[in-house]
Amino acid sequence: MRDRIYLCLAHMSGNEMKYIKEAFDTNWVVPMGPNVNAFEKDLENFVNKRVKINPENGKTVKELAPLDKKVVCLSAGTAAVHLALIACGVQPGDEVIVQSFTFCASSHPITYLGATPVFIDSEQQSWNMDPELLETAIKDRIEKTGKKPKAIIPVALYGMPYEIDRIMEIANRYEIPVIEDGAEGFGSMFNGQALGTFGEYGVLSFNGNKMITTSGGGALICPDEEKAREILWYATQARESYPYYQHEAIGYNYRMSNVCAGIGRGQMTIIDEHIAHHKHVQALYCELLKDVKGFHMHGNPAPEFDSNFWLCTATLDPDVKIVGQENAYKQVVTGAVGGAAGVTHTASSAVTDCQPNDNVEALRVALDKANIEARPLWKPMHKQPVYKDAPAYVNGVSEHLFHKGICLPAGPYVSDDDVRYIADTIKASIL
Ligand SMILES: *Cc1c(COP(=O)(O)O)cnc(C)c1O
Repeated sequence: MRDRIYLCLAHMSGNEMKYIKEAFDTNWVVPMGPNVNAFEKDLENFVNKRVKINPENGKTVKELAPLDKKVVCLSAGTAAVHLALIACGVQPGDEVIVQSFTFCASSHPITYLGATPVFIDSEQQSWNMDPELLETAIKDRIEKTGKKPKAIIPVALYGMPYEIDRIMEIANRYEIPVIEDGAEGFGSMFNGQALGTFGEYGVLSFNGNKMITTSGGGALICPDEEKAREILWYATQARESYPYYQHEAIGYNYRMSNVCAGIGRGQMTIIDEHIAHHKHVQALYCELLKDVKGFHMHGNPAPEFDSNFWLCTATLDPDVKIVGQENAYKQVVTGAVGGAAGVTHTASSAVTDCQPNDNVEALRVALDKANIEARPLWKPMHKQPVYKDAPAYVNGVSEHLFHKGICLPAGPYVSDDDVRYIADTIKASIL
């Protein structure tokens, strides 16, 4: 049997150990230090780059003067969301608007602050925050609560850019700060500019399965030096500058380790190759699966969208029949789908009231049997039991996508031969 093909595996450049060794040799084995500072500079250089694109085909026309955003490295992307919300002044009783079609780390930190997430459904093209629903929600929340939502969080799901031009226009009109959740979209661009640099803040994640990894880690893109310093202060227990510990606000222990930052520096030496490989894998899936009836790859909807294709995703029409479909959901899944670490609660039933269609589950099982890891699309937050009481503005798009969608392996470890094998397995699974 072939080796298992995973959704997205961390891939080392070979340069990581040099920086880690440096941390040990100089005894900087603490949550700050030269690697952290240098990694922040690398990230700034990367996200501040801008190009002019040809609006017809998305191709680069020329380089533009870089932006001047500052980056603060943190212990996780979730920590970055949390601190961005604090910096936007989110307090108990406030509301924060967030894309519903996302991973829970976009919305959970809102609840850490005693605030309430207001979920916004997606539009068909990018699968991300629907600007029309966004404006409807802002108006309705002001009418119902007498207060403006404190922030807006669009999410680059699977790396795909959101309609940031329309979202920023609305956010600016209502004077509500935007926190871009670019955790899955590191290296994605909209109109030649990096995701995370349009809003007030931009969240990055370097978890083990993201575009680049520091084993675990994240960063916040900040508008200027002053805001970056404030984030840094919150991330290091909000200490005042006295010879003794003096605290005038509540802080957090969220700074990145200098050892982890060493991994990040190594990863930055191959980020461009990583992104190119993800795009290459996406293009190959599209080519090999284009004639499969009822199977649709999710691609860039327009030239200004330039996804990193962190994961390659597709939808399966409900009328497509898959081998073994009659047995879908007959068994309670033990452990997380794909064996992801940390799932310690056993599912209490084989089904829930909102789950992928039987044919999607059957395709996942067929791929799994062929030693290919696939996964349903993320279940929208407004359909999650834990958020059943949160306000939601929905149009059915994300729920439909969740019923029909599947994530396919991507990333540097997925070879052309693997993609051919995956495409062949998909074709062979369709009755
Ligand atoms: C991974 C992820 C995060 C959080 O990142 P961590 O580094 O895992 O805490 C936030 N938002 C989205 C959409 C993510 O996928």
